[in-house]
Amino acid sequence: MNPPRVLFSLQFGKIDHVLPNSCASLAQNWDKVLDHFQFDSPFDMNLASPEKAPINWPAAITLWSTLFSALILIPLYAYSNEFSTAAWVSFVVLAGLNGISITAGYHRLWSHRAYSAHPVVRFVLLMFGTMAVQNSVYIWASGHRRHHRHVDHIDNDPYSAKRGFWFSHMGWMVREYSTNKEDFSNIPDLLEDRMLAFQHKHYTALALGINFGLPFLIGYLCGDVWGVVLLGGLLRLVWSHHTTFFINSLAHIWGRRPYTDANSARDNGVLALFTFGEGYHNYHHIFQYDYRNGIRWYQFDPTKWLIRSLAWCGLAGDLKRVPNFKIEKARLDMQFKRAEQGLSCKKLAALESIEHLKVTLAREYESFSAALQEWAKVKEEQIHAAREAFEHSEVMKTYHARIAAIESGLKAQRKRVAALVNQIPKGVWA
Ligand SMILES: [Zn+2]
Ligand SMILES: [Zn+2]
Repeated sequence: MNPPRVLFSLQFGKIDHVLPNSCASLAQNWDKVLDHFQFDSPFDMNLASPEKAPINWPAAITLWSTLFSALILIPLYAYSNEFSTAAWVSFVVLAGLNGISITAGYHRLWSHRAYSAHPVVRFVLLMFGTMAVQNSVYIWASGHRRHHRHVDHIDNDPYSAKRGFWFSHMGWMVREYSTNKEDFSNIPDLLEDRMLAFQHKHYTALALGINFGLPFLIGYLCGDVWGVVLLGGLLRLVWSHHTTFFINSLAHIWGRRPYTDANSARDNGVLALFTFGEGYHNYHHIFQYDYRNGIRWYQFDPTKWLIRSLAWCGLAGDLKRVPNFKIEKARLDMQFKRAEQGLSCKKLAALESIEHLKVTLAREYESFSAALQEWAKVKEEQIHAAREAFEHSEVMKTYHARIAAIESGLKAQRKRVAALVNQIPKGVWA
């Protein structure tokens, strides 16, 4: 609940000390310019580590051979044959099942414990997640938890975006980097799960069996073995791989950062369309335990809809949601930061309107601090009242109403600060 560091003094009106009369460095300006275009700095993408790790042959052969086979075999086959409708349907259905099993299962259920699920649901997610050939849940989740803990760190984040697009997309898997060493010390909760232990122990046999067995079986039943093997088997695997990989690469490069700029993660509605809602990655990195990634009703997040539907059927529970207040606070923090960065440029100091904007910003920040204090006070009172008068719902209703009023006040304030940011002349950034 701490206000952003640089804005602490704003509440005391010492705005000139907080907003030094010096321009941001060239590098910062570049970042601003590129941020304006919603792309990361290309200069950041060349920080590849000098570490030359030995090639991880099983992973390299799997990833390259499936990709090249798909690029060569599918057009060759299509040249002299026609794919049946069943083959295309098998591609869409199996790609959907693989993708959502990774997002709802490997990611939100096991890596983040964002909800709990019935054993039948866990079994289905585990089987189709295995089919996606992204390693066992143990390996996937331990690496992913390290990614969140050390996000962007060159040496500790297994798929650090700071090491470039290629590394974060696929490069990190095709060599035996030290960050890929099996270390399950961060998944003690998963090690107790017998279903996951079985999958880890028999991963290769399970992955091979289901990848070859299911497409052949579907193809045999539909009378188009080669069509289903090529589309529902090969193309589905390559598609499923690279759309998932985009979350580690593109979702850390391309998009907006409305909630935090403490890391490279971005919100990107286009990516969300191909990744079952995982494109809202900026939100996910600040609130990783939320079962939702796209929190607005209109944001495309089928994984969220699946989890909520399972909960309605009694097949999922304990859905974790970040309180609206915290979300609004994060967005306002970012707006204040942008306003402060914009107003701190020396080139603007001569403009008369800037003083007025600085004063307005200081006043807004004062009101923001007061809202935070008020919220903490009401929350404390609410907890106390819940203990004392749990039965009297009327009492609790007044607290809910007060909290809702603070939240909508923050929402209105965010819009005002955003409008203030828009009043800062943009030309100075170029
Ligand atoms: Zn990430
Ligand atoms: Zn995550």
